[in-house]
Amino acid sequence: MDRVHEIDLMKRIVVGKGTRSKLGKVIKSLGYPEGKIVIISGPHVWAEWGDQVQGILEKEGYETEVLLAREPSKGEAERLLEKVPEDVSLIIGFGGGKSIDLAKYVAYKLDKDILSLPSATSHDGIASPFSSLKGINGPMSIKTKPPIAVIADLDIISSAPERLNRAGIGDVLAKFSAVKDWRLAHLLKGEYYGSYAASLALMSAKHVLKYVNLLKNLVDEGLRILVEALISSSVAMCIAGSSRPASGSEHLFSHALDIVANRPALHGEQVGLGSIMMLYLHGSKLWRKVRKVLKEVKLPTTADELNVSDEKIIEALMIAPTIRKDRYTILGTEKLKREAAEHLAKVTGVIK
Ligand SMILES: [Zn+2]
Repeated sequence: MDRVHEIDLMKRIVVGKGTRSKLGKVIKSLGYPEGKIVIISGPHVWAEWGDQVQGILEKEGYETEVLLAREPSKGEAERLLEKVPEDVSLIIGFGGGKSIDLAKYVAYKLDKDILSLPSATSHDGIASPFSSLKGINGPMSIKTKPPIAVIADLDIISSAPERLNRAGIGDVLAKFSAVKDWRLAHLLKGEYYGSYAASLALMSAKHVLKYVNLLKNLVDEGLRILVEALISSSVAMCIAGSSRPASGSEHLFSHALDIVANRPALHGEQVGLGSIMMLYLHGSKLWRKVRKVLKEVKLPTTADELNVSDEKIIEALMIAPTIRKDRYTILGTEKLKREAAEHLAKVTGVIK
């Protein structure tokens, strides 16, 4: 009962069409009256929207500097870090997950705030307090700070490749297995479990089930629902103080797949498919429902659709429990037996 739990939350969330035009005013209202703003972005997004974003900030009297990011690695984050001028007052991450992850890392290292301006709905990193970067030893996730604000402009997001936007649906559905893993780790390993954060993460996944018809054609209302679900999952992570409510065995499977098959598909596609198998292991009937919904929203449910061989799925399942020793899940801590991995993938229809 005497445990102290601190929660760091974002201050402003603005979702809608054309919300980029509010960027300068939102920043001003959050207490950055003047100074230099560094924008970390990707070359494609910047080529399309950069002039507009820069113009909006300059109109409010902000000086801007743009740093174009190449890849989401720790090395790249360190390179960007050195280019940020000393008098920076705020960092903006503008892009898909990559630019925002890099911006979160850079802002954290400089003890500055970061504002998230997502260009796609590919995963819930758009508003989470974690930065996923490739390090020397595979993927690593560093706890940073949540963005001070998230400005999701549906004009920008709807111009992203559809596949990128759809992938976020898989990341939201993954919360079903992630929360089950968290609860299991609580029951078996005495890990802290926050039922409010767990409920919030689950709510975002249920939201997707409820509005699956709108999500099939990912246009205006569907995109808004997805953005809100992703932000709600990020808030669950802020409240939990860990990525536990959003990331369990299905994320371990996806990391394992990145290692054995060199990032064959998008993060959200991989964790969504992983969730089918992990829900089966949990003995939950939801695995069929999640598989059905993934199919309905045109996300992969088989090795073929994920563009990997059956063998790579088996290999990834086998090593998934060894990826993160501190993350206890339904997979346990030992490498899976080959027969067990193969059976799991077959019985859930992932491989033939
Ligand atoms: Zn994820």
